[in-house]
Amino acid sequence: MSGKLLVVGTPIGNLKDMPERAIQALKDCDFIAAEDTRVTLKLLNHFNIKKPMVSYFEHNKMQKGELICNRILKGENCVLVSDAGMPAISDPGEELVKQCIDMNIKISVVPGPNAAVSALAISGLPTGRFTFEGFLSVNKKRRIEHLNDIVNEKRTLIFYEAPHKLAATLKDLHEYLGNREIAIVRELTKIYEEIIRTTLFEASCKYSNEKIKGEIVLIVAGKSEEIDEPAYTLEQAKELAKSMQREGEALSVVAKKIAKLTGLKKREIYKELLNE
Ligand code: SAM
Repeated sequence: MSGKLLVVGTPIGNLKDMPERAIQALKDCDFIAAEDTRVTLKLLNHFNIKKPMVSYFEHNKMQKGELICNRILKGENCVLVSDAGMPAISDPGEELVKQCIDMNIKISVVPGPNAAVSALAISGLPTGRFTFEGFLSVNKKRRIEHLNDIVNEKRTLIFYEAPHKLAATLKDLHEYLGNREIAIVRELTKIYEEIIRTTLFEASCKYSNEKIKGEIVLIVAGKSEEIDEPAYTLEQAKELAKSMQREGEALSVVAKKIAKLTGLKKREIYKELLNE
Protein backbone atom coordinates (compact mmCIF):
# COMPACT_ATOMS: atom_id res chain seq x y z
CA MET A 1 0.00 0.00 0.00
CA SER A 2 1.22 3.50 -0.85
CA GLY A 3 2.39 5.84 1.93
CA LYS A 4 1.70 9.56 1.98
CA LEU A 5 3.31 12.99 1.84
CA LEU A 6 2.84 15.17 4.89
CA VAL A 7 3.58 18.89 4.33
CA VAL A 8 4.72 20.21 7.70
CA GLY A 9 5.14 23.85 8.76
CA THR A 10 8.13 24.66 11.00
CA PRO A 11 9.07 27.83 12.96
CA ILE A 12 10.25 30.98 11.14
CA GLY A 13 12.71 31.90 13.88
CA ASN A 14 11.47 30.79 17.26
CA LEU A 15 11.59 27.08 18.07
CA LYS A 16 8.82 27.53 20.63
CA ASP A 17 6.47 28.02 17.68
CA MET A 18 6.89 24.38 16.61
CA PRO A 19 3.38 22.88 16.47
CA GLU A 20 2.81 19.75 18.59
CA ARG A 21 1.46 17.83 15.59
CA ALA A 22 4.58 18.78 13.62
CA ILE A 23 6.83 17.22 16.28
CA GLN A 24 4.69 14.07 16.20
CA ALA A 25 4.78 13.95 12.38
CA LEU A 26 8.59 14.10 12.38
CA LYS A 27 8.71 11.29 14.95
CA ASP A 28 6.23 9.08 13.10
CA CYS A 29 7.41 9.41 9.48
CA ASP A 30 9.81 7.07 7.66
CA PHE A 31 11.95 9.85 6.18
CA ILE A 32 12.11 13.63 5.80
CA ALA A 33 12.51 15.62 2.58
CA ALA A 34 14.35 18.76 3.77
CA GLU A 35 15.26 21.92 1.86
CA ASP A 36 18.43 22.29 3.95
CA THR A 37 19.39 19.18 5.91
CA ARG A 38 21.69 21.20 8.25
CA VAL A 39 18.84 23.50 9.27
CA THR A 40 16.46 20.56 9.77
CA LEU A 41 19.10 18.60 11.72
CA LYS A 42 19.19 21.44 14.28
CA LEU A 43 15.41 21.23 14.56
CA LEU A 44 15.52 17.44 14.96
CA ASN A 45 18.28 17.67 17.59
CA HIS A 46 16.30 20.25 19.54
CA PHE A 47 13.36 17.85 19.77
CA ASN A 48 15.54 14.75 20.21
CA ILE A 49 14.34 13.18 16.98
CA LYS A 50 16.46 10.90 14.81
CA LYS A 51 15.23 10.37 11.24
CA PRO A 52 16.79 9.78 7.82
CA MET A 53 16.73 12.83 5.57
CA VAL A 54 16.77 13.40 1.82
CA SER A 55 17.91 16.83 0.69
CA TYR A 56 15.34 18.39 -1.62
CA PHE A 57 16.10 21.86 -2.94
CA GLU A 58 15.74 24.10 -5.98
CA HIS A 59 18.54 22.55 -8.05
CA ASN A 60 17.86 18.86 -7.43
CA LYS A 61 14.07 18.95 -7.11
CA MET A 62 13.27 17.12 -10.34
CA GLN A 63 15.38 13.98 -9.81
CA LYS A 64 14.93 13.94 -6.01
CA GLY A 65 11.18 14.42 -6.43
CA GLU A 66 10.95 11.24 -8.47
CA LEU A 67 13.01 9.33 -5.91
CA ILE A 68 10.83 10.58 -3.05
CA CYS A 69 7.59 9.72 -4.88
CA ASN A 70 8.85 6.21 -5.64
CA ARG A 71 9.65 5.61 -1.97
CA ILE A 72 6.17 6.82 -0.99
CA LEU A 73 4.56 4.59 -3.62
CA LYS A 74 6.40 1.64 -2.07
CA GLY A 75 4.75 2.39 1.27
CA GLU A 76 6.95 4.91 3.13
CA ASN A 77 5.55 8.07 4.74
CA CYS A 78 7.46 11.26 3.95
CA VAL A 79 7.43 14.59 5.79
CA LEU A 80 8.29 17.64 3.67
CA VAL A 81 9.85 20.59 5.52
CA SER A 82 11.46 23.78 4.24
CA ASP A 83 14.13 25.97 5.88
CA ALA A 84 11.41 27.79 7.76
CA GLY A 85 7.67 28.27 7.61
CA MET A 86 5.21 26.52 5.33
CA PRO A 87 6.77 24.35 2.63
CA ALA A 88 5.56 25.01 -0.93
CA ILE A 89 5.11 28.75 -0.29
CA SER A 90 7.85 30.45 -2.34
CA ASP A 91 10.01 27.33 -2.08
CA PRO A 92 10.64 24.13 -4.08
CA GLY A 93 8.10 22.09 -2.07
CA GLU A 94 5.49 23.35 -4.55
CA GLU A 95 6.99 21.01 -7.17
CA LEU A 96 6.94 17.94 -4.90
CA VAL A 97 3.26 18.51 -4.10
CA LYS A 98 2.51 18.64 -7.85
CA GLN A 99 4.52 15.47 -8.52
CA CYS A 100 2.68 13.61 -5.74
CA ILE A 101 -0.70 14.72 -7.13
CA ASP A 102 0.34 13.45 -10.60
CA MET A 103 1.19 10.07 -9.06
CA ASN A 104 -2.04 9.84 -7.04
CA ILE A 105 -0.15 10.02 -3.74
CA LYS A 106 -2.16 11.08 -0.73
CA ILE A 107 -1.13 14.48 0.68
CA SER A 108 -1.93 15.98 4.03
CA VAL A 109 -0.81 19.08 5.93
CA VAL A 110 0.32 20.07 9.41
CA PRO A 111 -0.05 23.86 9.29
CA GLY A 112 2.58 26.00 10.93
CA PRO A 113 4.02 29.52 11.00
CA ASN A 114 4.18 31.53 7.79
CA ALA A 115 6.08 34.80 7.35
CA ALA A 116 3.70 36.37 4.81
CA VAL A 117 0.48 36.06 6.78
CA SER A 118 2.16 36.85 10.11
CA ALA A 119 3.60 40.08 8.67
CA LEU A 120 0.28 41.06 7.10
CA ALA A 121 -1.51 40.54 10.41
CA ILE A 122 0.61 43.17 12.19
CA SER A 123 1.09 45.56 9.24
CA GLY A 124 -1.94 47.72 9.95
CA LEU A 125 -2.80 47.64 6.22
CA PRO A 126 -6.12 46.19 4.99
CA THR A 127 -6.24 42.41 5.44
CA GLY A 128 -9.71 41.79 3.97
CA ARG A 129 -8.31 41.19 0.50
CA PHE A 130 -4.63 40.65 -0.20
CA THR A 131 -2.32 39.14 -2.79
CA PHE A 132 0.93 37.24 -2.24
CA GLU A 133 3.57 38.25 -4.79
CA GLY A 134 6.56 36.26 -3.48
CA PHE A 135 10.00 37.49 -4.61
CA LEU A 136 10.41 39.96 -7.49
CA SER A 137 12.61 38.33 -10.11
CA VAL A 138 16.22 39.51 -10.49
CA ASN A 139 15.77 39.05 -14.23
CA LYS A 140 15.04 42.58 -15.48
CA LYS A 141 12.40 41.62 -18.07
CA ARG A 142 10.44 39.36 -15.69
CA ARG A 143 10.74 41.95 -12.92
CA ILE A 144 9.28 44.70 -15.11
CA GLU A 145 6.48 42.39 -16.30
CA HIS A 146 5.64 41.58 -12.67
CA LEU A 147 5.65 45.25 -11.65
CA ASN A 148 3.49 46.25 -14.62
CA ASP A 149 1.06 43.46 -13.72
CA ILE A 150 0.41 44.84 -10.26
CA VAL A 151 0.32 48.58 -10.92
CA ASN A 152 -3.49 48.72 -10.65
CA GLU A 153 -3.89 46.05 -7.97
CA LYS A 154 -6.23 47.32 -5.26
CA ARG A 155 -5.59 44.51 -2.79
CA THR A 156 -2.79 44.73 -0.21
CA LEU A 157 0.42 43.30 -1.69
CA ILE A 158 2.84 40.96 0.09
CA PHE A 159 6.45 40.50 -1.06
CA TYR A 160 9.38 38.49 0.24
CA GLU A 161 12.82 40.06 -0.04
CA ALA A 162 16.45 39.44 0.88
CA PRO A 163 18.20 42.30 2.74
CA HIS A 164 20.88 42.89 0.08
CA LYS A 165 18.19 43.41 -2.57
CA LEU A 166 15.94 45.64 -0.47
CA ALA A 167 17.18 49.02 -1.77
CA ALA A 168 16.65 48.08 -5.43
CA THR A 169 13.22 46.60 -4.69
CA LEU A 170 11.99 49.64 -2.77
CA LYS A 171 13.22 51.89 -5.56
CA ASP A 172 11.38 49.84 -8.21
CA LEU A 173 8.20 49.55 -6.14
CA HIS A 174 8.17 53.31 -5.68
CA GLU A 175 8.90 53.94 -9.33
CA TYR A 176 6.12 51.66 -10.58
CA LEU A 177 3.46 51.91 -7.85
CA GLY A 178 3.96 55.54 -6.80
CA ASN A 179 3.94 56.71 -3.21
CA ARG A 180 2.02 54.31 -0.98
CA GLU A 181 2.03 53.07 2.57
CA ILE A 182 4.41 50.20 3.27
CA ALA A 183 5.23 48.07 6.30
CA ILE A 184 8.74 46.62 6.32
CA VAL A 185 8.56 43.63 8.63
CA ARG A 186 11.83 42.00 9.63
CA GLU A 187 13.04 39.12 11.77
CA LEU A 188 9.57 37.95 12.80
CA THR A 189 9.50 35.91 16.03
CA LYS A 190 13.25 36.56 16.58
CA ILE A 191 15.04 38.79 19.11
CA TYR A 192 15.34 41.74 16.73
CA GLU A 193 11.80 41.56 15.35
CA GLU A 194 10.90 44.99 13.96
CA ILE A 195 8.15 46.62 11.95
CA ILE A 196 8.72 49.90 10.13
CA ARG A 197 5.49 51.56 8.97
CA THR A 198 6.34 54.23 6.43
CA THR A 199 5.77 55.21 2.77
CA LEU A 200 7.46 53.91 -0.38
CA PHE A 201 8.94 57.37 -0.92
CA GLU A 202 10.51 57.56 2.57
CA ALA A 203 11.64 53.94 2.47
CA SER A 204 13.25 54.14 -0.97
CA CYS A 205 15.25 57.23 0.07
CA LYS A 206 16.23 55.86 3.50
CA TYR A 207 17.37 52.41 2.39
CA SER A 208 19.27 53.59 -0.67
CA ASN A 209 21.74 54.81 1.97
CA GLU A 210 21.25 52.53 4.93
CA LYS A 211 21.79 48.79 5.20
CA ILE A 212 19.24 46.55 6.82
CA LYS A 213 19.81 42.99 8.07
CA GLY A 214 17.72 39.88 8.54
CA GLU A 215 14.74 38.32 6.81
CA ILE A 216 12.17 40.70 5.39
CA VAL A 217 8.54 40.79 4.32
CA LEU A 218 7.15 43.88 2.60
CA ILE A 219 3.47 44.73 2.92
CA VAL A 220 2.42 47.41 0.43
CA ALA A 221 -0.95 49.16 0.24
CA GLY A 222 -3.03 48.41 -2.83
CA LYS A 223 -3.85 51.15 -5.35
CA SER A 224 -6.02 53.76 -3.73
CA GLU A 225 -9.54 54.46 -5.01
CA GLU A 226 -8.87 58.14 -4.46
CA ILE A 227 -7.49 60.09 -7.40
CA ASP A 228 -5.22 62.23 -5.24
CA GLU A 229 -1.95 60.45 -4.54
CA PRO A 230 0.08 62.02 -1.71
CA ALA A 231 1.61 65.25 -3.06
CA TYR A 232 5.38 65.70 -3.18
CA THR A 233 7.21 68.84 -2.21
CA LEU A 234 10.21 69.96 -4.27
CA GLU A 235 12.41 69.08 -1.28
CA GLN A 236 11.09 65.52 -1.28
CA ALA A 237 11.58 65.24 -5.02
CA LYS A 238 15.20 66.37 -4.60
CA GLU A 239 15.78 63.81 -1.86
CA LEU A 240 14.41 61.08 -4.08
CA ALA A 241 16.54 62.26 -7.00
CA LYS A 242 19.66 62.15 -4.84
CA SER A 243 18.93 58.56 -3.86
CA MET A 244 18.59 57.65 -7.55
CA GLN A 245 21.82 59.45 -8.42
CA ARG A 246 23.64 57.55 -5.68
CA GLU A 247 22.76 54.42 -7.62
CA GLY A 248 24.49 55.84 -10.67
CA GLU A 249 21.56 57.07 -12.75
CA ALA A 250 22.24 60.01 -15.11
CA LEU A 251 20.88 63.45 -14.17
CA SER A 252 18.54 63.72 -17.16
CA VAL A 253 17.12 60.23 -16.58
CA VAL A 254 16.60 61.00 -12.90
CA ALA A 255 14.84 64.29 -13.66
CA LYS A 256 12.51 62.54 -16.11
CA LYS A 257 11.62 59.76 -13.67
CA ILE A 258 11.05 62.17 -10.80
CA ALA A 259 8.84 64.38 -12.94
CA LYS A 260 6.70 61.35 -13.87
CA LEU A 261 6.44 60.24 -10.25
CA THR A 262 5.76 63.55 -8.61
CA GLY A 263 3.95 65.55 -11.27
CA LEU A 264 6.54 68.31 -10.87
CA LYS A 265 8.16 69.87 -13.94
CA LYS A 266 11.21 68.03 -15.34
CA ARG A 267 12.98 71.31 -16.12
CA GLU A 268 12.45 72.56 -12.57
CA ILE A 269 13.86 69.38 -11.06
CA TYR A 270 16.80 69.37 -13.47
CA LYS A 271 17.65 72.97 -12.56
CA GLU A 272 17.43 72.21 -8.84
CA LEU A 273 19.71 69.21 -9.21
CA LEU A 274 22.26 71.19 -11.18
CA ASN A 275 22.35 73.78 -8.41
CA GLU A 276 23.09 71.17 -5.71
N1 SAM B 1 8.07 28.89 2.98
C1 SAM B 1 8.35 30.04 3.79
C2 SAM B 1 7.06 30.63 4.41
O1 SAM B 1 6.20 29.98 4.83
O2 SAM B 1 6.97 31.85 4.53
C3 SAM B 1 9.10 31.10 3.03
C4 SAM B 1 10.27 30.67 2.23
S1 SAM B 1 11.02 31.95 1.39
C5 SAM B 1 12.30 31.08 0.53
C6 SAM B 1 11.96 32.79 2.61
C7 SAM B 1 11.52 34.23 2.77
O3 SAM B 1 10.47 34.29 3.76
C8 SAM B 1 12.60 35.15 3.30
O4 SAM B 1 13.42 35.63 2.25
C9 SAM B 1 11.78 36.27 3.92
O5 SAM B 1 11.32 37.13 2.93
C10 SAM B 1 10.59 35.48 4.49
N2 SAM B 1 10.83 35.13 5.91
C11 SAM B 1 11.12 33.92 6.41
N3 SAM B 1 11.26 33.99 7.76
C12 SAM B 1 11.06 35.28 8.11
C13 SAM B 1 11.08 35.99 9.34
N4 SAM B 1 11.36 35.38 10.50
N5 SAM B 1 10.82 37.32 9.33
C14 SAM B 1 10.55 37.95 8.16
N6 SAM B 1 10.53 37.33 6.97
C15 SAM B 1 10.78 36.02 6.93
